[in-house]
Amino acid sequence: SLANRLQDTFNRLRGKGKLSESDVKEAMREVRLALLEADVNFKVVKDFVEKVRERAIGQEVLQSLTPGQHVIKIVNDELTELMGGSQAKLNISNKPPTVIMMVGLQGAGKTTHTGKLAKLLQKEKKKPLLVACDIYRPAAIKQLQVLGEQLQVPVFSLGDQVSPVEIARKGLEHAISYGHDYVLIDTAGRLHIDETLMDELRNIKEAVQPSEILLVVDAMTGQVAVEVAETFNNTLDVTGTILTKLDGDTRGGAALSIRAVTGTPIKYVGTGEKIDAIEPFHPDRMASRILGMGDVLTLIEKAQASIDQDKAMDLERKMRNADFTLEDFLDQLSQVKNLGPLDQILGMLPGMNKVKGMQNMNVDDKQINRIEAIIQSMTPAERREPKLIDSSRRKRIAKGSGMTVQDVNRLLKQFEEMQKMMKQFSGMAKKMKGKKGKK
Ligand code: GDP
Ligand code: MG
Repeated sequence: SLANRLQDTFNRLRGKGKLSESDVKEAMREVRLALLEADVNFKVVKDFVEKVRERAIGQEVLQSLTPGQHVIKIVNDELTELMGGSQAKLNISNKPPTVIMMVGLQGAGKTTHTGKLAKLLQKEKKKPLLVACDIYRPAAIKQLQVLGEQLQVPVFSLGDQVSPVEIARKGLEHAISYGHDYVLIDTAGRLHIDETLMDELRNIKEAVQPSEILLVVDAMTGQVAVEVAETFNNTLDVTGTILTKLDGDTRGGAALSIRAVTGTPIKYVGTGEKIDAIEPFHPDRMASRILGMGDVLTLIEKAQASIDQDKAMDLERKMRNADFTLEDFLDQLSQVKNLGPLDQILGMLPGMNKVKGMQNMNVDDKQINRIEAIIQSMTPAERREPKLIDSSRRKRIAKGSGMTVQDVNRLLKQFEEMQKMMKQFSGMAKKMKGKKGKK
């Protein structure tokens, strides 16, 4: 899957200290392939990769926490941007009622999502009216009426012998005289785009002047969804998209492309057949989901805000060279405290739950305070060279920090383990470098 492939790529990046131009190039080749495989529009992929490449190589990389993390952030930012940036809300008419017209191919989910939207509006104490303008599909009117009954929302219908344009117009009049603040117009679809349908939709639009024309597209149709979006947009100037059936075994391609191709935001996603299976579309969340890296981005943002960049780089170098001392540990602890609860931070790191022993480390803030107190009771020489700390020194440190000798022992033991782990990591990094040099 796209998520897996990207994750593999970024896992490789994450092991690196520095990011060269060729690293970025290699990573971007993977990203491009992954996106193309996920059915993302070719041109969208090309632009995307170019943008990320430009941003990733050079100065910005140097300023980041680690180059790998920075590239991840850039990819995420650009994916988010590609899908519209921030969350897009429904347009509201300043002269109520607000008219929302649902358009799209047959079977995309227009009728279902008319119901879902009505339910959302109902929750906000709005008074929607549903208007049944699909007079062609057998039982389409009935389907809307059943939804209306279920929600206790009125449905306006004139049967299937009156033109949809007329139904829409009368429906709006009805809404005005009955004090509805929203009118949701459910229209007909075809199995494929045809001119008769487009003309009809254009005429309905003309008649009711909707604030919102929502294109309902089935995410499972991939690249076809993008073509549909383009055609509907050219005819009707849609104002937003609802991407349905994201609960299925869908690839992320449509979500990535639709906004880029039509210039209109995805406003909601449909995640099931049930009436409340609808969610506002969050481009940033979608991007993170596509990247499949949990809350790693939240972590990066937090870290960037509160850790001094130079210090972080310095620390990273020290960790790689395994000359990390108790002094550095103390320094790091005070920075970690600014980030938030330590176990939460560790939980955000990808792969951290896989590191042996990390699960039960369970460090809380109180524990950090205790560790700080112990280290602060050591002399600078002891902090640099823990081997100096014999049993009489341990007693002194315990006394000075108000802890027991066992507490001091435990800390020193933990620190020793940590150093071992870092040595292993740095050994691994050196090996990897050697390998790369050979080929
Ligand atoms: P319309 O022809 O555009 O009005 O499409 P419908 O609203 O009648 O939906 C067509 C089919 O897709 C129905 O069986 C719906 O239950 C189903 N459907 C709609 N939205 C979703 C969704 O988000 N997830 C899933 N799994 N099924 C959906
Ligand atoms: Mg329908």
